[in-house]
Amino acid sequence: MIVNQRRNFLKALTATPLLSGISFNSQASTGLEQKKVVVVGGGFAGATAARYLRRWSDCEVHLIEPNTAYHSCILSNLVLTGDRSLDSITFDYSNLESKYGVHLIEDSVSRVDSSNQMLYLASDSEQSNPINYDKLILAPGVEFIYPDWSIDFDTIPHAWKAGPQIDLLKQQIDNLQNGDTLAIRVPSGAYRCPPGPYERTCAIADYLNRQGLTVSIKLIDPNSTLNGTNVVANVFSNTFGENNLYPNVEYIAGDDVADINADKMVTLASGENFTAQAINYIPDQQAPDIVRSTLYPDSDQAWAGVNPLTYASTSDEVSNAANIHIIGDSQATAQPKAGHIANAEAKICADAIIREFLGMAPYPNPMTNSACFTPINHSEAAWISAVYRYDGSEIVTEKVGNSPGANAKNYHMMFDWANNLFNDSFG
Ligand SMILES: Cc1cc2nc3c(=O)[nH]c(=O)nc-3n(C[C@H](O)[C@H](O)[C@H](O)COP(=O)(O)OP(=O)(O)OC[C@H]3O[C@@H](n4cnc5c(N)ncnc54)[C@H](O)[C@@H]3O)c2cc1C
Repeated sequence: MIVNQRRNFLKALTATPLLSGISFNSQASTGLEQKKVVVVGGGFAGATAARYLRRWSDCEVHLIEPNTAYHSCILSNLVLTGDRSLDSITFDYSNLESKYGVHLIEDSVSRVDSSNQMLYLASDSEQSNPINYDKLILAPGVEFIYPDWSIDFDTIPHAWKAGPQIDLLKQQIDNLQNGDTLAIRVPSGAYRCPPGPYERTCAIADYLNRQGLTVSIKLIDPNSTLNGTNVVANVFSNTFGENNLYPNVEYIAGDDVADINADKMVTLASGENFTAQAINYIPDQQAPDIVRSTLYPDSDQAWAGVNPLTYASTSDEVSNAANIHIIGDSQATAQPKAGHIANAEAKICADAIIREFLGMAPYPNPMTNSACFTPINHSEAAWISAVYRYDGSEIVTEKVGNSPGANAKNYHMMFDWANNLFNDSFG
């Protein structure tokens, strides 16, 4: 039975949502050449949406992204430990352009005018060259909510968006000496990749052990229990619990960082303080300003509400909100904030937009699935997988499964899973 369950979940690890019965041919001729979709953000969500809109239709697709290449957060903890290079998890957009005819615009979007269905680029300071759209997909990921402390946060990496932040945290880890302290803070509220901070703690603890260094790691978690452990419970209870895999890790649950000063003195809400030679403060998160200011000008909404059949905005604060779709980490459904599910949401959204252009109703029973692999040292990993379905009013969890523990087979499977996802988003 367990074997069967496991097989089913492993099948679900391929980055394929259960799409509609309609089958569009690759770059099909659908008579939609006059329709224009603009996608904002070239992460797992935005790149996949652009790719599939063009695979399944001939509508005009523009992808606006400020960076020439995308650094994946997925597998980025292995860059901290030197087990992967940043280059190996970096993807450019050339395939989207050459294979699928996506128009790339290297810029950021600074403002959206939903009433007139147009947006402005950051480089257009005069706001004289608006870009119009029939449909807009917002996929800008997350924005950090920084506390109001005097510390310069440029020196305290979050490394929760990959790229230079990962390099900076790696440098700080590599400078640690025997007897030093590393502090890692877990975000509170909804944040991307719930098991990620615990995974990172394990990966770094293992790395430091391998260097023969005794470094005290303080994992400060405002949540009262390990967030995400309902799915990776077996692994993490043996990691930070009684039979602690990493005795140098002190798990401080139900407390938070209240201040960090210029000398790297960390003060906790409980009053305890200590000096840490390296600090990985992962701030709380919300949808980026471009999402919130576009859709919620009159209220304080952290994440964007969507119709789960189409990912169209449900905001009633601006006109034509239903022509703006939000996918990936910025949206507010019960699905986790994760790259695999972002890829699945993107395909449902692309399918729904094409159907709407063709005068068809959205597919009524979309299902999505997500997987997360958690390396707990340099040779073993655990996985979790969940399936979600639309129950007629909202997205609910259909099934959750996790590997009984971490092992070497999972560690290898992690790379196959990630490569599938990378190819399905950027390939
Ligand atoms: C350490 C770590 C490990 C993880 N492991 C996993 C895992 O195992 N499995 C999993 O499924 N997920 C994992 N995740 C989560 C995953 O990385 C995110 O959920 C995913 O990246 C979300 O995709 P997205 O497209 O919504 O946002 P992003 O990937 O952040 O992409 C957003 C893009 O939008 C662009 N952008 C932002 N604002 C604008 C603007 N105004 N104009 C134009 N472009 C803009 C940005 O430059 C960026 O390229 C992990 C995350 C971390 C931090």
